[in-house]
Amino acid sequence: MRVLLIEDDLEIARRLCAAFEDAGFAVDHASDGETGWELGETRTYDAAILDLGLPGVPGLDLLARWRRAGRNLPVLVLTARGAWTERVAGLNAGADDYLTKPFHAPEVLARVRALIRRSAAHSSPVLRYRDITLDVGAGTVALGGATLDLTARELKILARLMRRPGHIVSQDELADQIYPQGEARDSNTIEVFIARLRKKLGRDAIRTVRGLGYKLE
Ligand code: CA
Repeated sequence: MRVLLIEDDLEIARRLCAAFEDAGFAVDHASDGETGWELGETRTYDAAILDLGLPGVPGLDLLARWRRAGRNLPVLVLTARGAWTERVAGLNAGADDYLTKPFHAPEVLARVRALIRRSAAHSSPVLRYRDITLDVGAGTVALGGATLDLTARELKILARLMRRPGHIVSQDELADQIYPQGEARDSNTIEVFIARLRKKLGRDAIRTVRGLGYKLE
């Protein structure tokens, strides 16, 4: 995970960098808006923490520019105490959340993590495993470049397996993908879907781990 921190107060920046790095994040720090803009243009980040009171390009302008350019990374803005108009302006310019100074670094960390989780849940990733490519958003699967014809349920089961390659996924977990909550389940059904997937992907694509479930290998 990589975050971009744009903050001109070096003491605050130091504290936040340390907190995020301790938590396993990579942090790029910019102390003015122009540098922040350039980093945001040239690198990919999971989230940005943006102070609104910056020298040069103000934080609000920077945020508005990103959003106009279609950059949709989650952004947490930092605002001065009591500046409620700044918070409103920040949210209106496309911020996902805000924190008022002074704040505790663990709270910034927790909020950024929450933003990243939310944005990951809404994005539609492309999953890849060996020569299988599954585009969750488009609902398509390709094997070595050739498009496969999969039903919606086969696709859901394969997506579940592809999200955890090399790990055993239980029948129950797979059933969760295709049955609405509370609907009666038939464990044979999962076996049928797995058999159909094997036909399309190759016999050895999915391994049965007796009594435990299935895995991709
Ligand atoms: Ca500042």
